[in-house]
Amino acid sequence: MGLIVLDNIFWKVDVDKLLERFRLQPGSQDAMRVEALAREAEEIGRPKVLYKEAYIDDKGEDFVIVDGIKLTSRILSINLEQVHRVFPYVITCGTELERWSQAIDDILEKYWAEGIKEMALAEATKAFEKHLEENFHPGKTSSMNPGSLQDWPITQQRQLFQILDDPKRYIGVELTDSYLMLPMKSVSGIRFATQADYENCKLCSRQNCPNRRAPYDPELAKSYGM
Ligand code: SF4
Repeated sequence: MGLIVLDNIFWKVDVDKLLERFRLQPGSQDAMRVEALAREAEEIGRPKVLYKEAYIDDKGEDFVIVDGIKLTSRILSINLEQVHRVFPYVITCGTELERWSQAIDDILEKYWAEGIKEMALAEATKAFEKHLEENFHPGKTSSMNPGSLQDWPITQQRQLFQILDDPKRYIGVELTDSYLMLPMKSVSGIRFATQADYENCKLCSRQNCPNRRAPYDPELAKSYGM
């Protein structure tokens, strides 16, 4: 199977969750404005996913070759030791929501719009996981993302984008010269079957990270030679 594009994802904004996050009183004027923005976003937003089933051609101590493209990371190589198939992906809130939020002038409303875009991205991520499970039955999976650990630098986004042909063409996501993705509310990575509960955050000692998904595990980091 080649590239898979999911661009017809049903999604809804969970307004109650947003109000809780922004600490707004339901029924207040601000809450009503958030709700109006949410309804606008649902009309306009087209979150999207691009992914593929890809095979590992070769592996070394600090690299993995996927569909002929070399990815340089020791930790990725360790994590893929028992695996021959991976799922490279890019997920985005979509250019439609990006343009919509850019047209908002009010600073507070812009901030709320960022929260709405994050929800669209989260819904697209769920759609990706569901599609992957239903079509490829990989079982338990984990993910690694270029730039989340020093071992797999953000410059490797270029190679990941090569494996996925040209994400801009399919889902509108482009890479800047500094390897950031536009729209900013996009995520990229490689998903793979695993028996272990791998999570990048367990190997990352960064303090006070608002996005931390698992506590830092120094013993695990040591086992990866970090
Ligand atoms: S702790 Fe934060 S910076 Fe570190 S890997 Fe997790 S999300 Fe990324």
